[in-house]
Parts: sequence; C-alpha cells; structure tokens
Amino acid sequence: MKNMAFKIVFAFLFVSSSLIVWAKPKPDRPKNIIFLIGDGMGLTQIFAGLTMNGGWLFLEQLDKIGFSKTQSSDNYVTDSAAGATAFSIGEKTFNGAIGVDSLGNPKETILEMAEKKGLSTGLVTTCDLTHATPASFAAHVGSRKKTDSIAIQMAHSGVDVMIGGGLDRFKNRKDGLDLVQVLEKSGMKVMDSTQNFRSVKSGKLAWFGGKEHLPSILNGRDTSYLKDASLKAIELLSQNPKGFFLMIEGSQIDWGGHNNDAAYVGTEMIDFDKTIGAVLAWAKKDGETLVVITADHETGGMALNGGSFGNKSIDAKFTTGGHTAVMVPVFAYGPGAKKFTGIYENTDIFWNFKKLLIKKKG
Ligand code: MG
Ligand code: ZN
Repeated sequence: MKNMAFKIVFAFLFVSSSLIVWAKPKPDRPKNIIFLIGDGMGLTQIFAGLTMNGGWLFLEQLDKIGFSKTQSSDNYVTDSAAGATAFSIGEKTFNGAIGVDSLGNPKETILEMAEKKGLSTGLVTTCDLTHATPASFAAHVGSRKKTDSIAIQMAHSGVDVMIGGGLDRFKNRKDGLDLVQVLEKSGMKVMDSTQNFRSVKSGKLAWFGGKEHLPSILNGRDTSYLKDASLKAIELLSQNPKGFFLMIEGSQIDWGGHNNDAAYVGTEMIDFDKTIGAVLAWAKKDGETLVVITADHETGGMALNGGSFGNKSIDAKFTTGGHTAVMVPVFAYGPGAKKFTGIYENTDIFWNFKKLLIKKKG
C-alpha cells in the first residue's frame, strides 16, 4: 500500500511538472490594447443594431462584461469630451475638457504613456480627428471647441496612425499654418480621400477621408471604411515588436441619437459591430491583445417599444435630443479582460489600461 501511494505521488509530481514545462504560457498582461468607443452606445443602441441586423451581432462573442458610470466632474450627464478624457487620463473632468483635469491642468494620456514606453499608437474614427473623442487622447485644451489648437497639438503628438476626417483643421487654416507639412516632417505619409489607405504597407500614416466629418452610412460612407481603416491601423502598428495602443471610434451612433433617428443609430451600430468582428478575429489569432469595447455615454434616452428580427425593424422612441446619465456596458476580450467585469467609474478603464500596459520598471 505504501509503495502504491508513493507511485501515485510520484506520477502526480511528474505529470504536474511536465504541465508546467509544456503548457503554453498564457500572458496575464497584453502586449497591445485596442480600445473601441461607440459614442452614445447604450444598451438600446446595441439592441437596435442587433435587431436591424436580423437578430445577432459580433459583440455577442464577448463574455467579460461590466458597466461604467459616466458622470463628469461637473455634471450628472457627461459630454463626449469629459467622457473620453475620463478614459484617457483616469480623472473625472468638466464637460468640454480635452485631456485636462477638473482644474484645467494637462494630464498625460494613456496614449502618450504608451508612446513614451516605445509602443506605437493610433486613432481611427468616422468623424473629424480633432473632434472630442479622438482629441482627448492626444491633445490638452480646456474646450473641445478649440479645434484649431487641438489640430496643432495632434500634428505634434507623435501618433503613428491617424485615420478619419478633418483635413481642413490641418490645412486651409485661418492662421495660415500648414499642419500637413508638420505631419510629413514627422515622417508620416499624408493622404486624402482621393488616395487609398489600403495600399500603405508600413510606416506612419495620416489619412483624411474629408475636409470635415465623414458622411454617415445613410449618406453614403463606404460600409467597409471603418473596418478596413481599423485593420490597416492594426497592420501598421503591430509591426512594432514592443506593442501598440489603438483607439477606434464609432462616432456617429451618437449623432443618430441626437437626431432621434432610429435608422441612423441602427446603421451606425451595425457598421461599428462589423469593425468589432474584424478586430476580435485579429485579436483571437494574435493572443496578446486586450480588446475593450464601451461607450462614453448613452444618447437620446432611446427605448425600443417594439420591433421584429425577421423584418429587421424597430419601433424606437427617444426622451431627449441630448445625452443621458445611465451606465453603459463595457465588453472585454483577451489578457486582462477579467478586470473589466463589475460596476465601476469610467475612470477605472484608464487605471486598468495603465496597470496592464504601462508596466513599472523592475
Ligand atoms: Mg465622439
Ligand atoms: Zn453627443
């Protein structure tokens, strides 16, 4: 009997030690973070898109889910500037603030921290690149309306890939500054909507799809634009062996809400979800990338009073033309995803990113 027990213990030790040697190490920290912000994307916007898509979304693949409280430092109802700045600097700030704290002091953003650490960085959006959400990661001003200053700061920010709208903020400026030249001097390939970003295979890229915002899907934006722009940014940024931080925004879900236009909300939601599907497929293959998907706030106080998956139709009602105060969902996939379950302040998303991506020395 004693001999048998010895054999069992020995066999157990042998098997467990070989497991330690042979099991593929699962990283608990990501090499890359892809942060997708659906502006104005509350639960109803998601379910509107799901219904208009015939009853499913790629987003349903994610099972690490939490809720983020979106209040700003000076308002129960946040705007997109304070909402994005909470994510970028980890502090609640006042509505309209871009990359500054509640006292107006510039604070280093998660994108700038990643850059300092030698990672590559990118911003992809369907609006003007100087608009509140992308600007909050690469600029520091007390008002989102100062888009001319935001453009100057973004041109000098060192962001490796910028894909979106807003060419007029960078050239044809009232002050005569040619920021396209600044971007080119920093080593970026600068392209406009007449050129195809898909042809770029390496290096730094700034692609402007228009003088201002890109059109909505309903008004003819290429339905492959956001997905292809996101995959292109990933292709370029992932060439850095140290890793990357990329923010992708589905900007116009918010504008559908402001317009109380259910078809606008639904089509933008489906477009954003297609991008989510493509990003997740890439991240699954990569294995070292954390993907986090959330919203800065809900827009429109949208409700679904009826609908049909079969007809891909919804009966939507709105309570406001502005934003609302409710929590918004957070979905996470990849190394570190577990940290995003539960109910927490929007600022916690920054602190998790910092813990996971910006490792302390030693
Ligand atoms: Mg936005
Ligand atoms: Zn809005």
